[in-house]
Amino acid sequence: MIKAVRGTKDILPAESCVWQEIEKTSRDNLKLFGYQEIRTPVIEETALFVKNIGEETDIVSKEMFSFVDRGERNISLRPEGTASIIRSYIENNLDKISQFQKLYYIGPFFRAERPQAGRLRQFHQIGVEAIGSLHPALDAEVIALSAKLLDSAGIKGYKLKLNNLGCRDDKKKLSKMLKDIFSDKKGEHLCEDCKRRIKMNPLRVLDCKNDGCREVVRKTFKEASFICAECKTHFEEVLKFIGMLNIKHEIDPYIVRGLDYYTRTVFEITHEGLGSKDAIGAGGRYDNLSLDMGGPDVGACGFALGIDRMTMVLGRGKESSTVDIFIANIGDAAYEKAFGILNDLRNNEISCEIDYEKRSLKAQMRAADSMGAKFVLIIGEDEIVKGEAALRDMKTKEQILIKFNDMVSKIKEKVR
Ligand SMILES: [Zn+2]
Ligand SMILES: [Zn+2]
Repeated sequence: MIKAVRGTKDILPAESCVWQEIEKTSRDNLKLFGYQEIRTPVIEETALFVKNIGEETDIVSKEMFSFVDRGERNISLRPEGTASIIRSYIENNLDKISQFQKLYYIGPFFRAERPQAGRLRQFHQIGVEAIGSLHPALDAEVIALSAKLLDSAGIKGYKLKLNNLGCRDDKKKLSKMLKDIFSDKKGEHLCEDCKRRIKMNPLRVLDCKNDGCREVVRKTFKEASFICAECKTHFEEVLKFIGMLNIKHEIDPYIVRGLDYYTRTVFEITHEGLGSKDAIGAGGRYDNLSLDMGGPDVGACGFALGIDRMTMVLGRGKESSTVDIFIANIGDAAYEKAFGILNDLRNNEISCEIDYEKRSLKAQMRAADSMGAKFVLIIGEDEIVKGEAALRDMKTKEQILIKFNDMVSKIKEKVR
């Protein structure tokens, strides 16, 4: 038997109702904050990610699903959202439509990581990109929105950590400083990954999850002292606005995010229910990305939340009630009548289901119960003769008779 590909999973009905709920409340909130949905392809040219996420990042160097297609093009499954959105923003001249764009997406992403709890090769994100402003209030608003989406989904106990990476020049200084610190003896205590990182992508040493590295890093590096005055002021302003919005947060100088394009504000949201791979979401500012990609020189800020992880924290759902009415029927004539009523009710926005298997009334009542039907409409041979059916309230066990010719209006009253 062929099974699902390693690192992928089926989202079954008992769980998909939780997903739908998260997606629905998120869409409602995103609308409230002025965001519009954008849907970009799951495949892009590999170069888009290599150039913009960064060649030396973990994502690009070891986690992308890349292939050469039949036309000899280098294609990759998207490992994250921001590069694709900015590509689309530039390609479709969205800045000409409105200087400021607030875009959101919900969909699957792909990374070839070693599969483990909470780490899937096909994972799902809700993300936003607010493009067209350098204002620190935007950072605060974006961070507030990420918290709002988690709150609305019913997620409690998450932690929001912020850091200021500074502009590109500041990041260069930080990289050089880390390189200097860890190129000597101190570097010997770092893990193999970090020994490589210190040469190619030193910032990532700061957020290594390896216990040994964490200890060494925390002993030697306290905070980025070289951040320029402008970036410092920007971050102070961000904190001021965040304070106004009353968002619980902490400053963590070891948050760097694994993507090259981030500048200034970066943030990470963690939840202890997720173990050591505990990020439930992350984001930040990326003020050079649009210009680097050949677009307008605009500041931008965004985040993504992992839907798979949100559902992990929430725990497994329960199949929600699927129908208002279950139509139990006995005999061929009753089935035909019931089939007609089924159609009438559905045309009137009343969800209903019928028994297809000619089972006993008892078996049909059991089926209605397990389906979570609110009412059962019972039609047998007697009812056909009298031109009526019995409607049973599954909660109160009350039963009333309804004439066939005012079936829809009577049921509508009851269901409402
Ligand atoms: Zn700066
Ligand atoms: Zn390490």
